[in-house]
Amino acid sequence: MKSDENWDWSSFWIETLKQLRDNTTEQEWVMWLSSLTYNSGSENSIKINVPSSFYRDQVSQRYGSVLAETLENICGKRLNIEFFVDGSQIKSKAEISSETQDAEENHPKKSARAMESTGFETKRSVSSHSQLNPDYTFESFVIGDNNSFAANAAYAISKNPGTAYNPCLFYGGVGLGKTHLIQSIGHSVRNDNSDLKIVYVTAESFTNEFLDMLGKKKMHQFKNKYRSVDVLLIDDIHFLQNKEGTQEELFHTFNALYESKKQIVFTCDRPVSELKNLTDRLRSRFERGLNVDLRPPDLETRQAILIKKMEARRVSISPEVIELICKNITSNVRDLESALLKLVAYSELVHKDVSIDIAKEQLKDHFTDTIQINISVDLIQKIVSDYFNVSTADLKSKKRTKAVTLPRQIAMYILRELTEYSTTEIGYEFGGRDHTTVMHACQRIESRMKTDSTLEPTINNLIRTVKDDIKS
Ligand code: ADP
Ligand code: MG
Repeated sequence: MKSDENWDWSSFWIETLKQLRDNTTEQEWVMWLSSLTYNSGSENSIKINVPSSFYRDQVSQRYGSVLAETLENICGKRLNIEFFVDGSQIKSKAEISSETQDAEENHPKKSARAMESTGFETKRSVSSHSQLNPDYTFESFVIGDNNSFAANAAYAISKNPGTAYNPCLFYGGVGLGKTHLIQSIGHSVRNDNSDLKIVYVTAESFTNEFLDMLGKKKMHQFKNKYRSVDVLLIDDIHFLQNKEGTQEELFHTFNALYESKKQIVFTCDRPVSELKNLTDRLRSRFERGLNVDLRPPDLETRQAILIKKMEARRVSISPEVIELICKNITSNVRDLESALLKLVAYSELVHKDVSIDIAKEQLKDHFTDTIQINISVDLIQKIVSDYFNVSTADLKSKKRTKAVTLPRQIAMYILRELTEYSTTEIGYEFGGRDHTTVMHACQRIESRMKTDSTLEPTINNLIRTVKDDIKS
């Protein structure tokens, strides 16, 4: 269809979106509506760009009638809305296979749109930094209720390193986006100010480098490197537990940077209060600034994440299959993504579209809910006691010290959550306790979760560890 200059419905379209924005959640807006742009109009119809056929199907199904009605109210005429898949944004499979160049270079428009739709300001240049994964940027990070505090803090830090939130620590279980977020800070700082020295390092590499330099008697070099950075990003500091020498060095690095108002950001798989074998003074440094948790995403956010991943790879899987994945994989984004990738690989190798049945068959090992029966009491007791550094014998003992009571209650709670065991059976496994003790423990944990914001992430983390363990 050729654009007709006489029919410019664009201002009506803008008003339509504005009204819908006022009447939908931020999440819906970001996910579905913000990327619909005006293309052209004719007497009786309006053509709207959508980024992919997946979007077209979803948007017309979910919002087709409300869009048409709102538009009619505004322009006084019923217009037929045509969705046009904008090929400059997302390419077809055929195009992808004949293509080898870098995605960002070819799709500046797309990356900018993705960024706008996350609510972050856009800048088109793409930073490169040897330690940073180019995919881990704010543009590709989907914001939901589970992570908006963390994402906004990260973004604010990147815009004003060393000032507002310094230091900052993001914590949460495996695969919830800690690395993605901390690296996004690096990219964004780099984009805004390429003169600043940014170092991203995992706590493990930091440790290895420290030991290596110490062995080679090149500590001055190590100190020079880390004490001259403007933005220091250290991932996975839980690795530092028990590493006293490295803790000591990090403590001094921290002080040097902090005093000269350099930005420091950490990530950790649990709240700092639960780290063991950490010197008090380093612990107090970690706790000094802002500590924010990342939680597992809700269903809508999980869908938004997969859609964004599909766009980044320029592949397409049907909405029903996406929904199937998102309903069955609830705890962790990494698992969500690997399920998607498996189906994409299947479809590419077998040259077949992925139906619901194929997806169910291919992903049966990814969907853990059906294998709950295999979870044993021993496994949960072991994982919980390892995490809290108590023995399983203590969990089953009559001891009622604080150090044992909480882990015991958590283990009981997780057993109730993940297995079919009755409270009587569970009580029996904990040194022959009464079923009312188990019920009481579960109630205690539930009410404590409401007041102690660190508890739920900890429990989710433990549940994930249990599930990961049975999968492997
Ligand atoms: P963590 O460091 O917490 O274990 P990662 O940052 O490695 O987790 O995230 C695991 C995967 O999930 C990565 O591929 C990351 O891009 C993706 N991911 C996690 N959260 C999000 C999100 N909110 N939006 C987009 N991708 C996400
Ligand atoms: Mg990580």
